[in-house]
Amino acid sequence: MSKVTVPVEACSICGARGWATCPTCQGTTYVIMLSGRPFRPAASFEPDAVRCPTCHAYGAVVCPECNGSGKLYQGHEYGSGRNRLLRPYGG
Ligand SMILES: [Zn+2]
Ligand SMILES: [Zn+2]
Repeated sequence: MSKVTVPVEACSICGARGWATCPTCQGTTYVIMLSGRPFRPAASFEPDAVRCPTCHAYGAVVCPECNGSGKLYQGHEYGSGRNRLLRPYGG
């Protein structure tokens, strides 16, 4: 029985961690809202700071490039939006 293995490479967007710092709050977990949209990252003690709606005050999001797998197909085009969850050892 031979197993087909898909060549993979580590995702360089998240450093193969599977998650990335929240792009909205930059990891501060709080933001200043302007006209109903996140305007800039903020510290929790700032008077108008609200919990980041993107990461729900978690400070990180699942990596949009590798969907949290930390791995990408070799030759993956970054930012192409054609990334898929990889399970290189599955099957
Ligand atoms: Zn956030
Ligand atoms: Zn990634």
